[in-house]
Amino acid sequence: MNRFAAFLFDIDGTLLRAGGAGRRAFNKAMEELTGPVVAGVAEMKFDGMTDRLIAREALALSGVAFEERLADALLVRYLEHLPGELDSPAFRVLPGAAATLARLQGRSAALGLCTGNLALGARLKLRHAGLDGFFDWSPAGLHGFAEDGEARARLVAAAVARVSAGLGRTVDPAEVLIIGDTPRDVSAAREVGCRVLCVATGNFDVAALAAVHPDAVAESLEHGEARLLLGLEG
Ligand SMILES: [Mg+2]
Repeated sequence: MNRFAAFLFDIDGTLLRAGGAGRRAFNKAMEELTGPVVAGVAEMKFDGMTDRLIAREALALSGVAFEERLADALLVRYLEHLPGELDSPAFRVLPGAAATLARLQGRSAALGLCTGNLALGARLKLRHAGLDGFFDWSPAGLHGFAEDGEARARLVAAAVARVSAGLGRTVDPAEVLIIGDTPRDVSAAREVGCRVLCVATGNFDVAALAAVHPDAVAESLEHGEARLLLGLEG
């Protein structure tokens, strides 16, 4: 079953739950730069969105004209607030995350990330979870981050290009397995031609995820369907 060239993991809802840290940090940044956070922003669902898209939509909901410099400033302040917010009792590493990464490490398939987080936000969250050591944070790392584009498919495509560069051959997107927790992970993976495994450890249950037809859906990384597709069983 283990026929993939690379496994690219989403972070929030897939490897960890940051306990609202991202939202609190983002709201603080919004407050500082645009004034009190409006109800529409407070109620925004961030699931599967890239950080830059969150900034664009939050500014639109706040009635603030979008400017690249303002979005940049907002995200810089967000990253400054994030470390303090991660230190929360609600932060948790999801079941099977550490064991899965440990077992995949050193196998023939490469390990990487495909996340809507900015690179620094991704690293801060994974460091807090004790999982940062599984990934290569150098520019050669097999990653797609928010810096690669606002639309999630752009960061999937960027990550696949880095897998090709890293392996020194043109990798077919179908050789790459994306592991995520939202319908956006599925649509972005499909747009690029990657396979996709969904885990119901974020805000979508198995039925909601099955409805968008990933290659497999599992309750968590510990469950059989996930382990089978990751080549850890069967
Ligand atoms: Mg996610």
